[in-house]
Amino acid sequence: MLKELRERVLKVAWKLREYDLIVMAGGTVAARDPESGYVVITPSGMEYDDLTWEDMCVIDMNLARIDGKRRPSIASDMFTEILKARPDLHAVTHSHSRYATAFACINREIPVTTTTHGNLVGGPVPCTSWVHPDPHTPEYLADIVKTIGNGNACNIRNHGVLACGCTVEESLENLITIEVTAYITFIAEQMGKPYILTPEETRRAYDFCKSSVGQDLPEKK
Ligand SMILES: [Zn+2]
Repeated sequence: MLKELRERVLKVAWKLREYDLIVMAGGTVAARDPESGYVVITPSGMEYDDLTWEDMCVIDMNLARIDGKRRPSIASDMFTEILKARPDLHAVTHSHSRYATAFACINREIPVTTTTHGNLVGGPVPCTSWVHPDPHTPEYLADIVKTIGNGNACNIRNHGVLACGCTVEESLENLITIEVTAYITFIAEQMGKPYILTPEETRRAYDFCKSSVGQDLPEKK
């Protein structure tokens, strides 16, 4: 079932390692099949290198296992709650990438320091409201959904980044962009005071990308 989407999710999971965004099994990739509404998600606690598409799990929005021999990610509820709240998006990718997570550890949003970030992510990456030592409570999930709001990403306090997209490839692209922006911001701040794009400039950068590259990006308020 959903072989093509499971192959795409696995390919993105491999890219997390390729781009040095994860260590060991510390990342999650989830994508919704728009037709069936089922979600393909990476398995719990497994390094991705030797996996095949059949190791990718298929679940429904109530976390029932539909297909696949592996146990789905322990964070599956986080991904289904985001996708339930955002019918315009179909994928979420998560990692504990170093520079972006450092921003989460000091409770600081990742600013729009590059036009590329404006083009793709479309806004700063806000942190969740508080540290969640006991994840997967309804309050934790609600806080994440609220922090993402109408945007494309959030940074879980003292944990790591969630990046959304219309496709699983786009969610990866956003995750990589966020990590690069956090890294560039860190470097620029050693050199001086970086210019941060205004909301209007960010909006124009996002709209430019949307109209000229032709991606089906979600509308932002
Ligand atoms: Zn995590």
